[in-house]
Amino acid sequence: MNKEEIDLHASLKKYFGFSKFKGLQESVIKSLVSGDNTFVIMPTGGGKSLCYQLPALIEEGTAIIVSPLIALMKNQVDAIRAVSQHDGVAHVLNSSLNKTEIKQVKEDIKSGITKLLYVAPESLTKEENVEFLRSVTISFMAVDEAHCISEWGHDFRPEYRNLRHIIKRIGDNIPIIGLTATATPKVQEDILKSLDITDANTFKASFNRPNLYYEVRPKTKNVDADIIRFVKLNEGKSGIIYCLSRKRVEELAQVLQVNGIKAVPYHAGLDAKTRVKHQDMFLMEDVDVVVATIAFGMGIDKPDVRFVIHHDIPKSIESYYQETGRAGRDGGEGHCLAFYAYKDIEKLEKFMSGKPVAEQEIGHALLQEVVAFAESSLSRRRFILHYFGEEFDNETGEGGDMDDNVRYPKKQHEAQDNVVVLLDTVERTNDKYKSKDLVHVITGKSNALIASHKTDTMPFFGNGQDKDKRYWMALIRQVLVAGLLKKDIETYGVLRLTDGGKEFLKLPRSFKMSEDHVFDETTDDSIITASKGEGAVADERLMAMLKDLRKRNAKKLSVPPFVIFQDP
Ligand code: ADP
Ligand code: MG
Repeated sequence: MNKEEIDLHASLKKYFGFSKFKGLQESVIKSLVSGDNTFVIMPTGGGKSLCYQLPALIEEGTAIIVSPLIALMKNQVDAIRAVSQHDGVAHVLNSSLNKTEIKQVKEDIKSGITKLLYVAPESLTKEENVEFLRSVTISFMAVDEAHCISEWGHDFRPEYRNLRHIIKRIGDNIPIIGLTATATPKVQEDILKSLDITDANTFKASFNRPNLYYEVRPKTKNVDADIIRFVKLNEGKSGIIYCLSRKRVEELAQVLQVNGIKAVPYHAGLDAKTRVKHQDMFLMEDVDVVVATIAFGMGIDKPDVRFVIHHDIPKSIESYYQETGRAGRDGGEGHCLAFYAYKDIEKLEKFMSGKPVAEQEIGHALLQEVVAFAESSLSRRRFILHYFGEEFDNETGEGGDMDDNVRYPKKQHEAQDNVVVLLDTVERTNDKYKSKDLVHVITGKSNALIASHKTDTMPFFGNGQDKDKRYWMALIRQVLVAGLLKKDIETYGVLRLTDGGKEFLKLPRSFKMSEDHVFDETTDDSIITASKGEGAVADERLMAMLKDLRKRNAKKLSVPPFVIFQDP
């Protein structure tokens, strides 16, 4: 170890009590302290905070840390104060401070004792704050949760868009470190461009979670029963069940309770006291299951969550990854079970219909990835990691056999000739089309766009009309993951040949295609379950049923397991 390394290790021990850096931390810190712009992509729990906290503590001046969540800032400030001699070492600057407090913060910064200043982006835009920060020594700027800058991220915040401009005003040569757990190439590109740090040293950790088992099941009218069965098989283990709507959360929590499972609901519609209570009950293991909307999870750190169930499929692979990522934090077992029906995708699309067109397009593209993931017969892990721009070989990679598709493979058949048709069409149309239009071209169906290019007059038009749309969409997904085609990042979705694809065209070889799952839905209106509770009538009937059941079960008779699914 050279002197610099020894110093870093000493500081790590001194301030944080750790004897080793985790993952890429040391390289990240070296990059930042040498004054380079730095970009860090690490999964949640990877140890990103330390990447700016440690440099902030050892460098001259104050580091400004932009973070979207006041609660998280407060936790970090408390933690740093706890290991330091004086409270002035870290401050939060936000609108909740009174005049005296603001004065104190500014004095501490001027005197040089404040090493970390946490700000929400909206406070940073305030003119008086910018003016003040211009006048003091800033060591660097950290932009935590940097994906908030991108509309392609899962948590877009418009205020993040102005950051670059403000940072420039505070100081011209301040090094910037951006940090995120969002790994999609599109979001990464947005962050680098928006912060104007395309020169940054980028550090990306693997997103593989080898201890998680991924499974997707068709969502039928019996989904509640399926969930209850699963939870009962995992009795005594902690789990989270995500639902899309608050109403569904309430209903499902009740259904579980009625069936003898210790469960509580959690969503943003509950008052703060109830939310805290339910969260604590889960953390203290007074209940096994939290049924929740996505409001639950941010900052929740229960290491032994053994399963995460998605009653409703999330709106992006990103969200799916984040939410399932709450299972098995301790490295132990973690079962991720998602229920999927195409109908739910349509529901999600309907939600977006009021939004601006650009936003809808993004939402639609993200949803298509979810469809691809759910219906695909590929290794789930490989699919997810590919989505994050990471190549994963499930023959040799860690956790390679930990999903339903690998454990129970679908039938495969030779698709070499069709891959040639596909790649050939991409080549001949000069990389112009997204999947949907390309499939139109292959199956010989025109539309305005295709007609405008006169593609429908070309000899190759309709070269693959012996197979249907579903087949070609499935093949495209598998060819993408195999790396023969790629989606253009700039236009998000236009398909282009990769070098591998060009090679394949020159020298075609065997390509085994798996049959995708068919998620056809059957509906049976004679049965009422909460999952059908879209209309108030069904809900009322369900609630009445539950009430009745509770009355009958009040004497704590053993609750018959799936009793509510019988026709009343
Ligand atoms: P992220 O922001 O990437 O989600 P955090 O910064 O919150 O992750 O860190 C996650 C956990 O890892 C924290 O409990 C932190 O104390 C711990 N941690 C960070 N660095 C180290 C290290 N070098 N050794 C041991 N634990 C660490
Ligand atoms: Mg963090």
